Amino acid sequence: MSGSAIVIGGGIGGLAAAVGLRRIGWKATVLERTSELGEIGAGMSQSPNALRALEELGVADQARAVGVPFHGVFNLRTPSGDHITRALPGGVSPLLGFHRADLHRVLMDAVPAEWVRTGAEVTAIRQAEGEVTVAYGSEELRADLVVAADGVRSTVRRLLWPDAPDPRFWGNTIWRGVAKADGVEGGMTLGRGRYFLVMPVGRGRVYWGLGAHADRPGVRYDDELAEVRRRTRDWHDPIPALLDATPPEAVLHHDITDLAPLASYVRGRVVLLGDAAHAMHPDMAQGAAQSLEDAVVLAAALAEVGDISAALSRYDEQRRPRTQTIVRQARAKGRGSTSSNAVNYHLRTLAPRVVPSSRWPGLAARALASVWDWTPPRLPR
Ligand SMILES: Cc1cc2nc3c(=O)[nH]c(=O)nc-3n(C[C@H](O)[C@H](O)[C@H](O)COP(=O)(O)OP(=O)(O)OC[C@H]3O[C@@H](n4cnc5c(N)ncnc54)[C@H](O)[C@@H]3O)c2cc1C
Repeated sequence: MSGSAIVIGGGIGGLAAAVGLRRIGWKATVLERTSELGEIGAGMSQSPNALRALEELGVADQARAVGVPFHGVFNLRTPSGDHITRALPGGVSPLLGFHRADLHRVLMDAVPAEWVRTGAEVTAIRQAEGEVTVAYGSEELRADLVVAADGVRSTVRRLLWPDAPDPRFWGNTIWRGVAKADGVEGGMTLGRGRYFLVMPVGRGRVYWGLGAHADRPGVRYDDELAEVRRRTRDWHDPIPALLDATPPEAVLHHDITDLAPLASYVRGRVVLLGDAAHAMHPDMAQGAAQSLEDAVVLAAALAEVGDISAALSRYDEQRRPRTQTIVRQARAKGRGSTSSNAVNYHLRTLAPRVVPSSRWPGLAARALASVWDWTPPRLPR
């Protein structure tokens, strides 16, 4: 079966969907509301399941070329700099760190330029027998299928899932930045009620993030970088140096929200993908990874099943249980990682302390096996 699709949103999820559709011989138009396609200046890691999804999408080599092996989750320290566990020299990491813009660019390069329309904010959707119509600006576009990858505050979800609750805040807030620095080792520093992540992302850039507890969302500071400094005062090197090497105006501060489970990701010929369907806490580094998996499963279902409605049912059956489980796990992890409870902190740092560093990567991979061991359906080569 081949057909035409409208993809709403040109983030990692929307572009991955377009790449998947292209791979199975569909045509697509990507509608993106911002005037330019791009990602924010921050970083992310990708795990083996995401790399397998990129493989099926045909862009794994390009992604590996811009990714940097990330050992940070095996390099845990206390705020004073003591190692709780340490990545062994020469060890292999299953994770790659990316500057978001680099991974976004890899996907963008795999989508024909004429498929993408920017400055195109979708405001309405109409479904009729056999087709769906999308309105943006003063224009309308029809297709066989709409893939809504319009993010955590999805307009499409609001229009077609009016009963779905708004994204929920559970007490986590995060600052992010990218510093110019060389020779910095990836790592994670665990404090009580907060953690600091350091991830080299190539070409002399290091991504950092400070996650912390917040009693309520929406609290902002005149000088966000100064607030990060205040919260990490006396923390070990290279944290102060990284903050010094970060332009203050480029510091991002977001409150984290996630989505309550939807009863279906499909309404007629409209399907939700990525954060629009299952926004989650970043603590398992799976938000974008799951959107890549979504894109592969959707393309495979459309390629293998002779009818759109049956293909979307298959996508829904395969994606909802997995993604909603991960949303729950990521929330629990996120809440634990910013808990200031002394017992919680002790337990969080105890396991890596008592397990020899050489065994920690294997144990961590085993604990995450249900997420990382995902096998993608095959897409036509
Ligand atoms: C702090 C933090 C760290 C993270 N770290 C990781 C990580 O390490 N690994 C990982 O896999 N994930 C990570 N994530 C999650 C990841 O960022 C998201 O899951 C992913 O970017 C979602 O992609 P998306 O395409 O679904 O949505 P988005 O990236 O939000 O893209 C949605 C797009 O739709 C556009 N849009 C919105 N409304 C409309 C409209 N009406 N019409 C047209 N266009 C519209 C928007 O402009 C945007 O471009 C992290 C998230 C956070 C907050």
